[in-house]
Amino acid sequence: MRSGYRYGDAFVDLVVTHEWGHAVQNRLDVRVRSIDGALQADCLAGAELAGAAPDGTVVFESGDVDELRTALVRAVDKTSWTKEGDHGSASERVDAFAMGQQRVVEGCLPQEVSTAGASAQGR
Ligand SMILES: [Zn+2]
Repeated sequence: MRSGYRYGDAFVDLVVTHEWGHAVQNRLDVRVRSIDGALQADCLAGAELAGAAPDGTVVFESGDVDELRTALVRAVDKTSWTKEGDHGSASERVDAFAMGQQRVVEGCLPQEVSTAGASAQGR
């Protein structure tokens, strides 16, 4: 946390929500787990932070969005706890996080499951 904090205090939010995303994945049915688990965790991190903002659970300060992007880019394979290729490329991580922010949890699920769930709810 200390080494990542130099990217800004939002780094801590990213790590906690990313790991929370892995915890969610571990409780999901295997059909809704993404093959690319680390990117799904980044997507869920984006969904968690986006979902926590409207009710004030998380308050974004000026610059936090840039800090999150920087942390996603800089944390790729350059930390003592990641290996090369562990969490996808920087652009894949930024894209996955943005998907979660924009499409919330539904956007983090495999397309066919997400669509099936939407149809079932529509009946
Ligand atoms: Zn991870």
